[in-house]
Amino acid sequence: MSRLYEPQAYDTTTWPDSLWRAATPPLAPWPRLQGAARAEVAIIGAGVTGLNAALELAEAHDADVALLDAAQPGWGASGRNGGFCCAGSTKLSDAAIRRRVGPAGADAFAAFQRAAVARVDDNLRRYAIDAERGPDGELHLAHSPRAWAVMQAEAAEDPDAEILPREALRDRGLFSPAFHGGVLERLGFPIQPMKYTLGLARAAQAAGVRCHGDSPVTRLAPHAGGWRLTTPHGTLDAARVLVATNGYTDERVPGWLAGRILPVLSNILVTRPLSAEEQRAQGWTARTMSFDSRRLLHYFRLLPCGRFLFGARGGHSADPAALAAFARTARAEFDAMFPGFAAAETEHRWSGLVCLTASLAPFAGPVPGTEGLFAALAWHGNGVAAGSETGRRMATLVAGGADTLPALMRRPPPRLPVPRRAALRAAMAAMRVADLPAISR
Ligand SMILES: Cc1cc2nc3c(=O)[nH]c(=O)nc-3n(C[C@H](O)[C@H](O)[C@H](O)COP(=O)(O)OP(=O)(O)OC[C@H]3O[C@@H](n4cnc5c(N)ncnc54)[C@H](O)[C@@H]3O)c2cc1C
Repeated sequence: MSRLYEPQAYDTTTWPDSLWRAATPPLAPWPRLQGAARAEVAIIGAGVTGLNAALELAEAHDADVALLDAAQPGWGASGRNGGFCCAGSTKLSDAAIRRRVGPAGADAFAAFQRAAVARVDDNLRRYAIDAERGPDGELHLAHSPRAWAVMQAEAAEDPDAEILPREALRDRGLFSPAFHGGVLERLGFPIQPMKYTLGLARAAQAAGVRCHGDSPVTRLAPHAGGWRLTTPHGTLDAARVLVATNGYTDERVPGWLAGRILPVLSNILVTRPLSAEEQRAQGWTARTMSFDSRRLLHYFRLLPCGRFLFGARGGHSADPAALAAFARTARAEFDAMFPGFAAAETEHRWSGLVCLTASLAPFAGPVPGTEGLFAALAWHGNGVAAGSETGRRMATLVAGGADTLPALMRRPPPRLPVPRRAALRAAMAAMRVADLPAISR
């Protein structure tokens, strides 16, 4: 099996019914790879990771780069995410990170996260991308009294965190009766992800990157001291290859990845525009990006157009009926959290794949046991910033320069020892039960 979910999840001829797709002028389609071609560096995957790597290789290293995508840029997670440009990209706690890589390693990873958010800002400026950048800060909301107590204790140690009890949230225009309080971190800001991704795609073309769409790499094999990438209509020979395919990875490309990643569904609904009166009545008028403390977390934000975006992790099938059932569950959770918005129908809903590993950390570096083959993936649901910065740093590594990636990201993920979908189903059921009592409180 080369991919974990139903074929619909990987059908590149169908775009998700996302607000982003509806609201963003499309790019002229990239031509497919045709015939036999050569490049110094081949990149597989034209999401934010592959695009940043391609830009850095072309602009800073003057490399001859070919970028291949199975679909067109923006089709993958980079064009269908919630637009939270934020820290994250691991499921490890700060304490667990320190245990794994020591205090210096933990500091290096924290610095990487800050650099990653700054990188997106820099990209927006450098390439004049109007991606509807929103206000700085990310709000973590407590869904239970217990979560609120833990959150306050942790925030007390963090000079960058602002503790906001329920009444303070009301004053800030961030009120929902479902939350006991929240902590605002300064790092991060929301963007319109399709505009960001297509802006990068345009910049890559302008920088001389050879960009090919509708070109799935079905085989990646050593060839003449480098690598041969095979697609349905052509081949590409390259000395070095970067795999940047994250949750959409074909696990034969390369075979080393088989069983080492765990793609997981994430789902979004967007309401019709909410009037100023509806926003005031609910008490949610600010555009700060927010998420809750559940294990199967929700992420949400008011969009500049007045629509409300609500995201929910979970679901274990990409079958349309299963996705529709999950969307009904997510909508019910949204209505419970935001009763003032319950009358606003859903205008768009879509899903996509994020990527986890058993090590709960991203991987970026050379593929062990190979020469000239690299991979950068597994952003654990937060790759807008991390993928952007990693793409840049990987480019330097691929070009023969210094390895500046944090130690946390260099450890190859182990193979998952159990049937992945069954394990995921069981884990999600357990998480849902653990979260449930709090939903009804
Ligand atoms: C619904 C949803 C909401 C999310 N919300 C957020 C958020 O708010 N903030 C955040 O930081 N992150 C979020 N994420 C995660 C984030 O979108 C990803 O981590 C990030 O976009 C990954 O970028 P990438 O370039 O590594 O991979 P992708 O953007 O997924 O790109 C991978 C590309 O590889 C291509 N590909 C795969 N296999 C092949 C092959 N064999 N040959 C050629 N091409 C191939 C695919 O077509 C795809 O275009 C969300 C994800 C989803 C699905």
